[in-house]
Amino acid sequence: MNNKVHLPISYGRQEITEADERAVIGALRSDFLTQGPTVLEFEKAFASYIGAKYAVAVTNGTAALHLSCMALGVQAGKTVLTTPITFAASANSVLYCGGHVEFVDIDPRTYCIDVEQLEKTIAQNPSKYCGIIPVDYAGHPSDLPKIRDIAQRHGLWVLEDSCHAPGAQYSHLGKVFGCGSGEHSDLAIFSFHPVKHIATGEGGMVTTNDPVLYEKLKTLRTHGIVRDEDRLVHASHGGWYHEMQILGYNYRISDINCALGLSQLTRADAGIKRRRVIADYYNKHLSSSLVTPYVAPGTSHAYHLYVVQTPRRKELYDFLREHKIFCQVHYLPVYRHPYWEKLGNWRPCPEAEKFYDHCLSLPVYPSMTDAQLEYVVEKVNEFCRGK
Ligand SMILES: *Cc1c(COP(=O)(O)O)cnc(C)c1O
Repeated sequence: MNNKVHLPISYGRQEITEADERAVIGALRSDFLTQGPTVLEFEKAFASYIGAKYAVAVTNGTAALHLSCMALGVQAGKTVLTTPITFAASANSVLYCGGHVEFVDIDPRTYCIDVEQLEKTIAQNPSKYCGIIPVDYAGHPSDLPKIRDIAQRHGLWVLEDSCHAPGAQYSHLGKVFGCGSGEHSDLAIFSFHPVKHIATGEGGMVTTNDPVLYEKLKTLRTHGIVRDEDRLVHASHGGWYHEMQILGYNYRISDINCALGLSQLTRADAGIKRRRVIADYYNKHLSSSLVTPYVAPGTSHAYHLYVVQTPRRKELYDFLREHKIFCQVHYLPVYRHPYWEKLGNWRPCPEAEKFYDHCLSLPVYPSMTDAQLEYVVEKVNEFCRGK
């Protein structure tokens, strides 16, 4: 059977169909390669999928974080709270704006930011902080209603890093909300890197329900330049006139990328469904030998990652690698990167440390075949039986 399995198997990968190819060719043959109608079309479709009012498409998830921090007013003298178990960009974006970061330990069950520790940290010095960046780690929603409540009581904003969680849901007071819907955050961001749920090559999105932040983000995305007559500072000089009002960037995404995104978006639900089938199979066959993911009551997991824990993580990683299964570790706590180490005397995060020592992301992506899935399970169990 094994010689029929397509190898190597990586922890995540994109799926490109013929419909995707046709969509990209359509964009290439259209009048606009960038700044055309497909960008707005993708934004509208994505906002509707996520359940938010507005969406702003940008070059990548990191640009989405950077612009969000700018729009929320991060600057020198401001301190933002986030989790250490995330991709470095979640925290880097605060530094881009001259702000400071403090890390709050993770909840050992969900691996998302621990809301009790978050509350305690803020209560010790409430005026020190301006905002919170929770991360829906692996596709499990952060405890957003509680985080929103803490933030509101202390006058902080919430920027949800939902890169792992388009399509994930949580419930609150009998209602169901989507990650990134903006019901319990000011802004939320997404990435369309090929390992994420929706691939555009490079790409990112900010979602919000706030019309003021929406306008600000659109201006910041294109150099801080304004063209709308009713938003000009100076009187218009004529039809050509536009003016730069704030220092922005060129973080625009092309119509080519957005055409691919639109096409991918039509398969988003099917992709999550497949990810959940894979996760259920892993749960069924691995939960007696490894720690499998916890899913909090009332939430549904998007399984960007399927993360297990084992004390023999390095041995398992090496064993699977020998069998052409390329897992990954998500993540080294951000404050342990050499650059970050030099920046501060970080508050200890024992749960994040323990998690980092034990975690491993097994392959999960929609185009993973049943044969590949069975092969991974067979190899993991072979390892666990002590072969
Ligand atoms: C992928 C990712 C990002 C950055 O997205 P890019 O598109 O690669 O810039 C930020 N945060 C998290 C949690 C991510 O997984």
